[in-house]
Amino acid sequence: MTKKHVAKALAIQIQGLHKRFGDIEVLKGIDLDIHQGEVVCLIGPSGSGKSTLLRCINLLETYDEGAVLIDGNCIGYSETYDGKRVPASAASVRDARRDLGMVFQQFNLWPHMSVLHNVTEALRSVKRAGRREAEARGAAMLEKVGLGDKLHSYPANLSGGQAQQRVAIARALAMEPSIMLFDEPTSALDPELVDDVLNVMRNLADEGMTMIVVTHEMGFAAEVADRVVFLEDGRLVIQGSPDAIFNASDDPRLERFLGSWN
Ligand code: ADP
Ligand code: MG
Repeated sequence: MTKKHVAKALAIQIQGLHKRFGDIEVLKGIDLDIHQGEVVCLIGPSGSGKSTLLRCINLLETYDEGAVLIDGNCIGYSETYDGKRVPASAASVRDARRDLGMVFQQFNLWPHMSVLHNVTEALRSVKRAGRREAEARGAAMLEKVGLGDKLHSYPANLSGGQAQQRVAIARALAMEPSIMLFDEPTSALDPELVDDVLNVMRNLADEGMTMIVVTHEMGFAAEVADRVVFLEDGRLVIQGSPDAIFNASDDPRLERFLGSWN
């Protein structure tokens, strides 16, 4: 383990983040710093705001107060000289997004495109990569997730519908993000496919990728996370090393939550 416990620059800073949907406040002031190369697992009950937090980081949602900084740059909003919040420029949003890869519970592959085409599509249309370059990179990423022999299969033809989430991970990695966000990547999978996806994520963590992973896989969190963050009702309740969270905490809210997963 070479990457652990080395002082590193901050990859993501979340400061006083508030998010409302109408009258309902779903993030009630979140402060969280994530270092380069760190793997942070976000856990918490359904409805606690985990997905919303990831979506605010990726600017799939706007937020109402606070700031999200990616590699030191504020995304979403910036403050003018007189303290007003104005939406960040499209260019700075694009720059910040370029650093972020996201994998969702639903993998949303294009059914009419080959596996390789699914992975190269954004490379070509967004990054303007040439065909050969995109295909070489796409093939390398599919190799990395263990699907090097499936380039020309169609999503529906991956045996038994398996491996689609690994295609989605390869698709995100092909864009060369420096940070990967995962929102319950295994919770829509058949149980026998979960380990394949977790292994890909474990390898990424070992390579030093900065990762935020929303997950109910407590075994994965205990083994792979540098830090576990527990969210409840829009608030960061407690955070710490996996050992501190899973073995040494007597926080009643955390105990109640973990009890319900055992
Ligand atoms: P989690 O991922 O932890 O299950 P979410 O972030 O999905 O939680 O949701 C947090 C709260 O925000 C929930 O009460 C949910 O109903 C609400 N919420 C999420 N998205 C929307 C939306 N687009 N409009 C209104 N309410 C939403
Ligand atoms: Mg969610």
